[in-house]
Amino acid sequence: MHQVEIGSGKPAAVLGAVLRGGFQAVAMRWSGDVEMARLAVDAAATRLIIVAVGAQDAIGAIDAALMLGGSGAVVADVLRISVAQRMLPRLCPTCRRSRELTVDEQTALRGTTLVDQPLFEPVGCDACQQTGYAGHQPLYWALEPRPWLTDLLRRRAPVGQLRQAAVREGEGGAFQAAHDLARQGVIAASTLIELRREELQA
Ligand SMILES: [Zn+2]
Repeated sequence: MHQVEIGSGKPAAVLGAVLRGGFQAVAMRWSGDVEMARLAVDAAATRLIIVAVGAQDAIGAIDAALMLGGSGAVVADVLRISVAQRMLPRLCPTCRRSRELTVDEQTALRGTTLVDQPLFEPVGCDACQQTGYAGHQPLYWALEPRPWLTDLLRRRAPVGQLRQAAVREGEGGAFQAAHDLARQGVIAASTLIELRREELQA
């Protein structure tokens, strides 16, 4: 494995040199450089390119590739997987409390399997300096290029449409991925409902 610092060099030039090195797999952080992104998308046709990108979710990462001028058809062809990671506030395990949902919360979670289940809320104790929270919990979820997604990409559907379709297909992302964490009391009911609201607004 080789690691190359981009330093003050032009990102596209550095990537070009790396690609000419003939590596089968290249991992990089996307710097926002359009030329570098185009090179990466082109190179992904013949080798494994792993790109870390700051985005709202797994769809947002795909959208970043599209915004950089990658055509929908090309992105659909080269996409292997889009993995999202997000940090959520973790409930303090010492003082968290299980309770039934309020009417407002039930309304917010209507249509999901969580409506009738007790969830957890923060309380506050000496262990968590009365905040009710202790650290963060990473949440991961992955989006694979299934037919519904590649079809929409080829038609260059707007990002909002991609997100709606993902929810419809049960691959919505953060909210669905967070279900188990909410049931187990790792995250608060309010955190889960916030993710639900984001999903509905998308
Ligand atoms: Zn506590």
